[in-house]
Amino acid sequence: MKEFVVSARKYRPESFESVVGQESITSTLQNAITSNHLAHAYLFCGPRGVGKTSCARIFAKTINCQNPTENGSPCNKCESCIGFNEGRSFNIHELDAASNNSIEDIRLLTEQVRIPPQVGSYSVYIIDEVHMLSKSAFNGFLKTLEEPPAHAIFILATTEKQKIIPTILSRCQIYDFNRMTVANIVEHLENISSTEGIKISEESLEVIAQKADGAMRDALSLYDQVVSSFGKEPAYTDIIANLNVLDYEYYFKLIDNFLECAIHKSLVMLNEILAKGFDIQSLIHGLGMHYRNLLISKDPISIKILNTTGKVKEKYLEQSGKCSQDFLYDGLNIIDSCDQQYRTSTDKRLLFEIAIMRLCQTSSSKKKN
Ligand SMILES: [Zn+2]
Repeated sequence: MKEFVVSARKYRPESFESVVGQESITSTLQNAITSNHLAHAYLFCGPRGVGKTSCARIFAKTINCQNPTENGSPCNKCESCIGFNEGRSFNIHELDAASNNSIEDIRLLTEQVRIPPQVGSYSVYIIDEVHMLSKSAFNGFLKTLEEPPAHAIFILATTEKQKIIPTILSRCQIYDFNRMTVANIVEHLENISSTEGIKISEESLEVIAQKADGAMRDALSLYDQVVSSFGKEPAYTDIIANLNVLDYEYYFKLIDNFLECAIHKSLVMLNEILAKGFDIQSLIHGLGMHYRNLLISKDPISIKILNTTGKVKEKYLEQSGKCSQDFLYDGLNIIDSCDQQYRTSTDKRLLFEIAIMRLCQTSSSKKKN
């Protein structure tokens, strides 16, 4: 049986060009490499699964490459590059500070740092989740960071920049990684699907991207989950059931109902959604996001921050055209007060039902005027 390789590993980027959604960071790193302006310490900050470790590995590979390209990319052909790609290079050392955060772990690392590399020019030390180091480990590490040997480069990665002490921050070049957009993720998954011969709709990929909440790694594992459950042609309905996501169509339909003041239809629809097992608080949040998306779709300036793609984006544009600005503001106010009362409410379902009735009223009162 052929070994199954998870997509996050199989499609791990091997050059700066294939890193998704971090163009400004990769081009700055490439410039630093081509102009030979390398720092001794870098701090890569940003949410999980956005390419921090991938960029650190590509950086380490490039600065050790025997024939880097003119624009600062690794050749992926020389002995050093092949060693990196096969995971057997001695020029890269990775420490996960989440599980190795003691002073002893740092002592082992700093002892290693003193030894120059046998092959290649640089030894690169990647310390992941560096904010997890204990205070004494931090202090132990500081000495090495202050006077690193010429061959050593540190790349510290963290999801929580605010937890890094100023003495470390001031010694690092800091790079802030972006959260992935839905469009970034959908495009990447589309490329993988065409390579793998998977037939999956853009709407399905959008659902996966939304659920992954800006983390490519999560998106790839959700994608693997869907493909391993439903084969080469996973259907949209199967995917939303599998990922426990509410079909976004419900929100579009609810708004249409509100616009028509269709109170009874809306309440029946709510009942249908709750029967599927979705909880009221996530519905309040989902509906609030939907109103917000409609509001930002109304203006060409704000539409840029609408984090959706293709058909879903078109649907927002179309529906926002039907909604007045007042209808949307009133709706957001009602949802906001429902959200605020949620925790203390003794009957949460009734609270939300009343909010829905009021949402239907907003358009009817506007029509009368
Ligand atoms: Zn090379």
